Amino acid sequence: MPTPDPFRLDDRRALVTGSVRGIGLTLARGLAAAGATVVINGRHAAAAEDVCATLRSEGIDADFSAFDVAEHAEVAAAVDALEQRLGAIDILVNNAGIQHRAALEDFTSADWQRLMRTNLDGVFNVSQAVARHMIGRGQGKIINIGSVQSELARPTIAPYAASKGAVRMLTRGMCADWARHGLQINGLAPGYFQTELNRALVDDPAFSEWLCQRTPAGRWGKVEELCGAAVFLASPAADFVNGQMLYVDGGLTSVV
Ligand code: NDP
Repeated sequence: MPTPDPFRLDDRRALVTGSVRGIGLTLARGLAAAGATVVINGRHAAAAEDVCATLRSEGIDADFSAFDVAEHAEVAAAVDALEQRLGAIDILVNNAGIQHRAALEDFTSADWQRLMRTNLDGVFNVSQAVARHMIGRGQGKIINIGSVQSELARPTIAPYAASKGAVRMLTRGMCADWARHGLQINGLAPGYFQTELNRALVDDPAFSEWLCQRTPAGRWGKVEELCGAAVFLASPAADFVNGQMLYVDGGLTSVV
């Protein structure tokens, strides 16, 4: 009898929040390539349904559930409905997130609230709703998407850095409360990747030049390069890895 591949995700269902585009969609494809069925999420049902149809046309076992991660009651109802309709959510990737750039002295309270409610409350809301089911089963994987801003600040994005630093500590806190129930909760922290969220940076040649000099690998990341780390953290290979942040950043957070 061959030894099972510890990196396979067959018979596992993964909910990836914020997966109608960008990093979330790439991670959903990566988890599917390792054998998982995937549930696509975003705020707009039509967009999530379209992405789901595209994935199905590629032979991927996909479903979708549209909800706003910032809304606690809406999230709980959507997660309970998913568990009823499809069965267990074995893997949760808390990926939904937004950016807003402004000097801190000009940052409006409304923009601060919107950012925190998405990037931090969203991780709490979805994790709590999913973990309540996982705890009953005595197993589950949660991957929280952090950032190099979980460690390092930059001008004009202090609230984003605060939210991602908090995601790092919430990851440890979830480990403190839920590891004993058989859950593994880890963070995956990307460096700089060219997506909608980073449009202002992608369009700025001076930033690109600075970034390529600042990053030991000398370049932007390619979104597909996040998939191996996500599959690892979602798989039995990581069954004793808990409360960690895995930086996929070309060395950026390791070198001054
Ligand atoms: P995108 O803007 O490309 O995608 C964001 C996704 O989140 C979309 O699918 C969007 O769908 C969804 N979303 C936004 N708000 C909500 C909400 N309230 N509820 C549900 N879904 C929501 O961003 P990226 O792919 O670049 O970023 C994904 C994650 O990776 C974020 O957490 C980000 O902070 C993080 N990250 C990104 C980096 C990068 O270089 N791009 C670097 C480090 C971290 P819709 O608008 O339809 O709701």
